[in-house]
Amino acid sequence: MNHYVAPLARLIEEFEKMPGIGHKTAQRLAFHVLNLSPNAVSGLINAIQGAKSKITYCSVCQNLTDVNPCVFCQSTKRDAGTICVVENPRDVIAMEKTREYKGLYHVLHGAISPMEGIGPEEIRIKELLNRVKSGEVKEVIMATDPNIEGEATAMYISKLLKPLGIKVTRIAHGIPVGGNLEYADEVTLTKAMEGRREI
Ligand SMILES: [Zn+2]
Repeated sequence: MNHYVAPLARLIEEFEKMPGIGHKTAQRLAFHVLNLSPNAVSGLINAIQGAKSKITYCSVCQNLTDVNPCVFCQSTKRDAGTICVVENPRDVIAMEKTREYKGLYHVLHGAISPMEGIGPEEIRIKELLNRVKSGEVKEVIMATDPNIEGEATAMYISKLLKPLGIKVTRIAHGIPVGGNLEYADEVTLTKAMEGRREI
């Protein structure tokens, strides 16, 4: 049976749906919200709605942005001849932290995973191809995660790009196999980029 009054139970339920939030944490967050002033609650609601309504996908690189094209794609200081392909927007942030990479990005929003029913059509490969075909791209760096799905995705894209005369490279494995790009420290990530090889 439920010990909480219905509105509180419902709030706990919503928090529990969030990644990494267990029942205990959900309870703590719900009670925290109850203790907030009406103003603070409005602020929280506005922040959630603002993030959801103002942020879209960049029409060029597919990264999350509040201006379209995004700041990377608009920048004249970045090397438009190089595209670094990553699985998710958090990887872009990780890469930017290295302060070494000066090219552009392409965010796939996932990796090919037959086990989970994610095929090439489900991620933003088509957008990458169109970009490469229409532009001044010389090198595409595959910086997908060093796990089975990431490797398969890198190989799949490489096969599509090679006939177009594009140099396709894969970042080196300074990053632990089976790991996630976003958790790699800056030095490891910089080394992985420097040690990239053609695929
Ligand atoms: Zn962009």
